[in-house]
Amino acid sequence: MHCPFCQHEDTRVIDSRLAEDGATVRRRRECPQCGERFNTFETAELKLPAIVKSGERRETFDERKLRVSFERALQKRPVASHDVDAAVREVVNDLRRSGEREIPSRQVGELVMRELKKLDQVAYVRFASVYRKFEDVQAFREEIEKLERDLPGLDSLQLSLLGESIARRGRKG
Ligand SMILES: [Zn+2]
Repeated sequence: MHCPFCQHEDTRVIDSRLAEDGATVRRRRECPQCGERFNTFETAELKLPAIVKSGERRETFDERKLRVSFERALQKRPVASHDVDAAVREVVNDLRRSGEREIPSRQVGELVMRELKKLDQVAYVRFASVYRKFEDVQAFREEIEKLERDLPGLDSLQLSLLGESIARRGRKG
């Protein structure tokens, strides 16, 4: 690191200690050229990216909203809350790991779908059907057929029930 006093291109670390909060390392540095001393602080970059909604609107990431998406999809499904916690954490960690400053909300939706697919197939279809905003019942049926091919364990009765509720919702709207 350059010396902020004389711009010499290297400085020596003479002391290094963990700050009280445990999340910051403080380093004492000395410049071999001018002899000045100064501190540097090192913290992990953990800021979450902003979420870019349609129409370029930006929103601060909100973990509560993410949890609500999971809970809606999983309503009355036999999934333990600690499994939901773990899934939420997975998505948050993925966003953190991305190191991006902004992420399209669509991408967050894909991460939610990935986790729901692991947790509960019915919840996954519920979320996907709302999230992908199927324009008509035909588009929904095509998606269900694709799912049935991808997930052979999926109960076709549950799917046809779901299809009907989507159709009803479609007529209402
Ligand atoms: Zn210096």
